[in-house]
Amino acid sequence: MEMIRNYINGELVPPVGEQYLDNHNPATGKVYGQLPDSDERDVKQATEAALHAFPAWSKTPRNDRARIMMRLADLIEQNLDALAMAESIDNGKPVSLARVVDIPRAAANIRFYATGIMHYASEAHNMEDTAINYTLRDPIGVAGCISPWNLPLYLFTWKIAPALAAGCTVVAKPSEITPLTAFKLSELAIEAGLPAGVLNIVHGLGPKVGAAITEHPEISAISFTGGTATGKTIARIAAPMFKKLSLELGGKNPNIVFADCDFDEMLTTTMRSSFANQGQICLCGPRIFVERPVYEKFKTAFVEKTKQLKIGHPQDKNTKMGAVASESHMEKILHYIALAKEEGGTVLAGGHRVHMEGELAGGWFIEPTIIEGLSYDCRTNTEEIFGPVVTIMPFDTEEEVLKYANATSYGLAGTVWTRDLKRAHRVAHQLHSGIVWINCWLLRDLRTPFGGVKASGVGREGGFQAIDFFTEPKNVCIRIA
Ligand code: NDP
Repeated sequence: MEMIRNYINGELVPPVGEQYLDNHNPATGKVYGQLPDSDERDVKQATEAALHAFPAWSKTPRNDRARIMMRLADLIEQNLDALAMAESIDNGKPVSLARVVDIPRAAANIRFYATGIMHYASEAHNMEDTAINYTLRDPIGVAGCISPWNLPLYLFTWKIAPALAAGCTVVAKPSEITPLTAFKLSELAIEAGLPAGVLNIVHGLGPKVGAAITEHPEISAISFTGGTATGKTIARIAAPMFKKLSLELGGKNPNIVFADCDFDEMLTTTMRSSFANQGQICLCGPRIFVERPVYEKFKTAFVEKTKQLKIGHPQDKNTKMGAVASESHMEKILHYIALAKEEGGTVLAGGHRVHMEGELAGGWFIEPTIIEGLSYDCRTNTEEIFGPVVTIMPFDTEEEVLKYANATSYGLAGTVWTRDLKRAHRVAHQLHSGIVWINCWLLRDLRTPFGGVKASGVGREGGFQAIDFFTEPKNVCIRIA
């Protein structure tokens, strides 16, 4: 049994209440470990440790903060195999994906902000002969970081790295569904020499631990990635306390295919943007709009390729599709497939739970699923499913596809496939979303603003904007005349 402990004040400790939750392996459906079922008492201890550590950490020269963070990034890389295996067991994702995406990106996040803080500067504004303004940027204090289960270590480090680099101390909560790599990170943080209390990780349930972090009066900011409904709850609690909020929420992204695109490249990438990580990436493109002249060609090729996608043991290095993260999530996805049929959709590929054999018999696997024949504004096409389920739809004009694409309350990302440069720009400008990819998908430069509009969130992560979030500007004006 893998026993997870909280990481508070530099030590791995059991929860105050001594209660534990079962941790499941999605590929087998079986319990393989336990994690703390922490509550507000653990959050209180973690916050006290973070408050105590803040003055020294915020005054530690940025060079020295960076050096410790670089050590942590190195340790993540040195433990790549073990961390990738842990992520695969905990989340159900193929270990091959965790090896090339999740874990390298976790190290990259930490290295990016460890070096980024050395280049971070603030502004000065000269008022001709009258005055000079300069702006100080101080770390905000204790930051609360709450992350989801789909890219566990990747998204966890994407939050805590800029916070630590900025000089904040952190109380963090990974998802209760995938706590393992965050626990392993706490062991590596100790090994890297991170001072006690600088990073505190409290495991447990969202409505208990997440809520206690959100409500704690000494936690000055909440950086949250997760579902829109949870984001609303957090905003409702945090707003009257005037906490800084960064909310990275759900998506229902359009993938727009014009007839003049590079068809083969589009098809290969669309396979990934539809089904990578079992479709459980907020940036996946589950609504695929295809210009009518290539619709039938696309449909035939896409369905054929999808039917060839083999679901397998997540820990087999050749597997491309693994299990979905939890039983309740599997039920939610199956519910949406049933809804799509009720709404008049035709299932062209997949549509069912997969019953594997042997040790995987109880695992939570779903076939990659393609649905056709739905209206652009039905529930299946406007609500987030967050699984290996996509819909395809033909369109005739640019105006029409923009209407379809913008018809959801979400606005995270969009993809456009065309060789017409002017059209690419036109469509990109008119999409209601925070991110647009043209002739590519998930090509990420960590310096760029990352986040969504409408129900996909508030604020941007990435680049210096994340450091801006974890610091408070103070303008100083000096009269010189
Ligand atoms: P949830 O909103 O259910 O959970 C996210 C985190 O919030 C978890 O750690 C969860 O804990 C915690 N939480 C739950 N309830 C509360 C609460 N009342 N107060 C504070 N914290 C709480 O999302 P999922 O984990 O299901 O993740 C999937 C969602 O995340 C999808 O909607 C997806 O689109 C979105 N997402 C967005 C991304 C973006 O960058 N915009 C990137 C990746 C995912 P626990 O797990 O214990 O319930």
